[in-house]
Amino acid sequence: MNEEILLEIKQKALQDHIPIIMDDTLEVIIPLLQEKKPESILEIGTAVGYSAICFSQYLSTEGKIDTIEREKERVEEAKQNIKRMKLEEKIHIIEGDAVEILPTLTKTYDVVFIDAAKGKYPFFLQEALRLLKPQGIILADNILYKGYVLGDYNKHKQRTAVRNLREYIQKVTQNEALETQIVEAGDGLAITRKK
Ligand code: SAH
Ligand code: MG
Repeated sequence: MNEEILLEIKQKALQDHIPIIMDDTLEVIIPLLQEKKPESILEIGTAVGYSAICFSQYLSTEGKIDTIEREKERVEEAKQNIKRMKLEEKIHIIEGDAVEILPTLTKTYDVVFIDAAKGKYPFFLQEALRLLKPQGIILADNILYKGYVLGDYNKHKQRTAVRNLREYIQKVTQNEALETQIVEAGDGLAITRKK
């Protein structure tokens, strides 16, 4: 992995105010990936490819990442970044709205990373569960959304997002077939395993 180029990609994303994965969230995810050595990862929300590039280091030898992004400009930048990192063989971008793309997918995944429109998290969860291998892991970033999700916050224009994130947490914690941990690192990360 070319750390210099990776740092450039990260710094440009931060300058452009692209909400890439936070360092302390990565620190929680990396050991999970090291243990799992995934053959397949599905990411919902590529942005410029930063998290997918980071995750790709922990794939098994033949492992692959499919990642979905709906904004054309970001797809183009992600493709460039992936090329610069020489990861075209490992990271495959699917361009389009995840709400439309997910129901068309049939391959199963060891890890699903949810990091896109917060209002769609319950739907993304439903699809992630369908596409997850036994013993697979679902990671949901920004699950605590600046702390709004845990408080009694409900007056803001973001309340639909907050309601849907709360619904996500409720669904993963009430489902007896699942085991979930909510970690306060970064903007909050939900780690869900199929028992
Ligand atoms: N995972 C990236 C950051 C993703 S930011 C990283 O950590 O590096 C969230 C991205 O999700 C944005 O680029 C946004 O355009 C995309 N997105 C939001 N809703 C989406 C949807 N319904 N389908 C596809 N992409 C979506
Ligand atoms: Mg995020």
